[in-house]
Amino acid sequence: MTGADRGLVILVHGGCGPRRPSSRAVAEIRRALAAGFEILARDGSAVDAVEAAVVVLEASGRFNAGKGSQRQLDGIVRMDASIMDGRTLAAGAVASLEGVLNPVRVARCVMDATPHVLLAGPWARRLARHHGIPAWAGPTPRRRLSWKGLYQRLAAPRAADTGTVGAVARDAAGHVAAATSTGGIRRMLPGRVGDSPLIGAGTYADDGAGAVSMTGVGEAIIRGALARLIASDLALGRTPRAAGQRALAWMRRRIGGEAGAIIATGAGAFALVHTTRYMACGVRRKGLVRVAASGTRVGDR
Ligand code: ASP
Repeated sequence: MTGADRGLVILVHGGCGPRRPSSRAVAEIRRALAAGFEILARDGSAVDAVEAAVVVLEASGRFNAGKGSQRQLDGIVRMDASIMDGRTLAAGAVASLEGVLNPVRVARCVMDATPHVLLAGPWARRLARHHGIPAWAGPTPRRRLSWKGLYQRLAAPRAADTGTVGAVARDAAGHVAAATSTGGIRRMLPGRVGDSPLIGAGTYADDGAGAVSMTGVGEAIIRGALARLIASDLALGRTPRAAGQRALAWMRRRIGGEAGAIIATGAGAFALVHTTRYMACGVRRKGLVRVAASGTRVGDR
């Protein structure tokens, strides 16, 4: 069988927001799609494919994840990431992780090498060291602020201008997986954790439903448990596009906040949806690549 016959599909996003993604960011989306699709085409698993795609985006420095991560208000970069395997519902995640270039790889370690789902802070970093995941110094910390100083700088939750990254995929065996990685939002308190490492909020994957990776204001996405909401709708037979749009519209109405989602099902259907003006994103299937600054223009199936 050729790659064209097996329903292989991978989607990636590089965050959603009001600004058009740069051509360099779009080029990295293309590279991430290629890295993930190559694994699928070699009969690799969806979970390996989404990890590989997110690794490319984290290492690029063009997004608010890994090397390009936003600093928290005390000047320190603390990152969140998660990964989920729709075949087994196994999941791994890290929160408030410092000093690692590829948080998604540490999330994968939590999934594969521990009985836990979410590891936070210095111990997540120690797990990374233990498994030989390279250290990363990160930007030089700015001066430390008092609580008063932190509160003065605090703003209403707003996604960063450069985006969180994520990937969803469906492999040759019909399994799905999802992964998400972020440096957070603008002007966040030290220790703030968003939706991206929370299974059911920023990431979800179940072969019986589909795979979902979210981007947008985490405070709203968490309260709406958006990824799981979309997956539940998929399991009830809604198309990826209908499920995604319904969830985003509900969140906007009921909680407030803008977001975007990439969605793929075990049947090979997919959608890229967002309520923001732009979402850096792309899809690769049947050996074809489509990349755009705006999800709705990429086309759904
Ligand atoms: N969802 C991310 C967070 O709240 C931010 C984003 O997607 O831009 O941490």
